[in-house]
Amino acid sequence: MPAASSQPAIDGWFATDDAGATHLIGGKCTQCATFVFPPRENNCPNPACASDTLDLVPLSRRGKVWSYTENRYLPPSPYPKTDPFEPFAIAAVELADEGLIVLGKVVEGTLAADLKVGMEMELTTMTLYTDDEGVERTTHAWRIA
Ligand SMILES: [Zn+2]
Repeated sequence: MPAASSQPAIDGWFATDDAGATHLIGGKCTQCATFVFPPRENNCPNPACASDTLDLVPLSRRGKVWSYTENRYLPPSPYPKTDPFEPFAIAAVELADEGLIVLGKVVEGTLAADLKVGMEMELTTMTLYTDDEGVERTTHAWRIA
């Protein structure tokens, strides 16, 4: 039985188009056009809007660093253990068109010292962990554009 060698860690948060470019999937309110990520199809996040219908839409692949940090300790379970633990950066990126701020890991090899607020970032994916069946579980991630 052939198994897929790579699967998203969480289904439905991103997709890859025919050209191989990855984009996040967000919810967009059908009444007030407010965006939300992670995606959902109901409950508009705008407190002034009573809509309960959100469309799933592709989000901008680029944005600017709004804030960032570096994680130097292994996060608690259920975060998958890596041995040895390698510090990693996390960036909050403000999407170019939506103004939505999306938190994500930064690709391996880029740490906080390499980042600056306002820096242009681009969406990609990275392996988060390998599961018990040997499938690489991927997540969205940011890299310097
Ligand atoms: Zn709304």
